[in-house]
Amino acid sequence: MRLSRYFMPTLKETPSEAQIVSHRLMLRAGMIRQQAAGIYSWLPLGYRVLRRIEAIVHEEQEKAGHIPMLMPTLQPADLWRESGRYDDYGEEMLRITDRHKRDLLYGPTNEEMITDIFRTHVGSYKDLPLTLYHIQWKFRDEIRPRFGVMRGREFYMKDGYNFDVDQENAFHAYNRHMVSYLRTYERMGLKALPMRAASGPIGGDNTHEFLVLADTGESEVFYDSAILDLKFGDRAVDFDDKAACQSIVNEWTAPYARTDETHDPALFDAIPEERRKTSRGIEVGQIFYFGTKYSEAMGATVVTADGTRVPVHMGSHGIGVSRLLGAIIEASHDDKGIIWPEGVTPYHAGLVNLKQGDSAADAACEGIYAALAKRGLTALYDDRDERAGAKFASMDLIGLPWRITVGPRGLKNGVVELTSRRTGESEEMPPEAAVDRLA
Ligand code: ATP
Ligand code: MG
Ligand code: MG
Ligand code: MG
Repeated sequence: MRLSRYFMPTLKETPSEAQIVSHRLMLRAGMIRQQAAGIYSWLPLGYRVLRRIEAIVHEEQEKAGHIPMLMPTLQPADLWRESGRYDDYGEEMLRITDRHKRDLLYGPTNEEMITDIFRTHVGSYKDLPLTLYHIQWKFRDEIRPRFGVMRGREFYMKDGYNFDVDQENAFHAYNRHMVSYLRTYERMGLKALPMRAASGPIGGDNTHEFLVLADTGESEVFYDSAILDLKFGDRAVDFDDKAACQSIVNEWTAPYARTDETHDPALFDAIPEERRKTSRGIEVGQIFYFGTKYSEAMGATVVTADGTRVPVHMGSHGIGVSRLLGAIIEASHDDKGIIWPEGVTPYHAGLVNLKQGDSAADAACEGIYAALAKRGLTALYDDRDERAGAKFASMDLIGLPWRITVGPRGLKNGVVELTSRRTGESEEMPPEAAVDRLA
């Protein structure tokens, strides 16, 4: 993409309404525009990152054997009357009436709708296990929308629902989700720690939240620093192998890690003092086994091998796709701007032409731009007629991992400059070498 033809309305001033760094940087980098409290337009640069995050979520869910689909944003109130949540959900639910006076709502989540789909089409244990998911806009009329996309009212969420014949199989689905989430967040360059969260009426170890440690997080968390050393990496996982998934879950749930809702000071104090940590955290996902809560209320049953009919065991598993942009920036920035992890960066590299209109510099930039494209790497080419300082400031602000700087002086010696956004280190090399380095 050539910046002269792009739409990236960066701001020089720090917007006063933004209280935290990720919100400020997303506004300054021209990624989002607020249209109403907690409701945003995704401008081209923000939309690119959103799509990259979404793509990682899809890839990892499909690897785990989970099946993508799409449910609507609007839902009939009657479904929620069946589960009893139409009244229980309260003010966070946006209720709408259509021209025929039928009650609708903008979905804050989809347990009821997916249970309705399941009960309509599935009736036998032979069709299980089944996990369906979608990535769709949600609406929650948050009392205090704030921090930009981190607590929006309209937000983009992946929500998946498992259906299993019994608790044992449903726990395996739970484990599959935990394992797939570990890889998902790592690919985004994030350390998101699974922490035992409030278990609710069912009891037991049946829900975990994934938290990114950050001072601006809204949750208080307590953990054993040993959990920070765990790395998922590239391990091959057979998602059908119950024992293999369980052992990965055991590895991540062995160190103490809990939110304030489940914090147990006695257990915490048993950890060696130097490993005992308290921090703030941003919730970027949650997995939840809730058994037959919805299937019983809504009559979602299957016939088992011995011919009896039982309510199906379910869980729901969410990832805050749009919140992740904020969380990643909170975890990865400096005073000049964003530092995108390679996995989610909107473009692989920025190309800065120090002297637009100089024939050697223009030609070298065109050559590098084409060579990158040929290797499947995307570049944002700053071909504007601007001062070098302004170009550098824009690149630092939007945070692409690499910058290739091209100017007449370097070209006389046959070199361009390759700079890492994260370390700030620059190296001179021939243009081809810079392209090779990125590939
Ligand atoms: P929170 O505690 O932050 O209100 P939640 O526990 O109500 O979140 P869930 O129902 O668990 O949210 O939804 C799954 C995920 O969706 C959350 O882990 C979070 O990442 C994301 N999410 C929830 N509410 C919002 C929101 N208002 N704006 C952006 N993302 C959200
Ligand atoms: Mg909430
Ligand atoms: Mg929560
Ligand atoms: Mg939650």
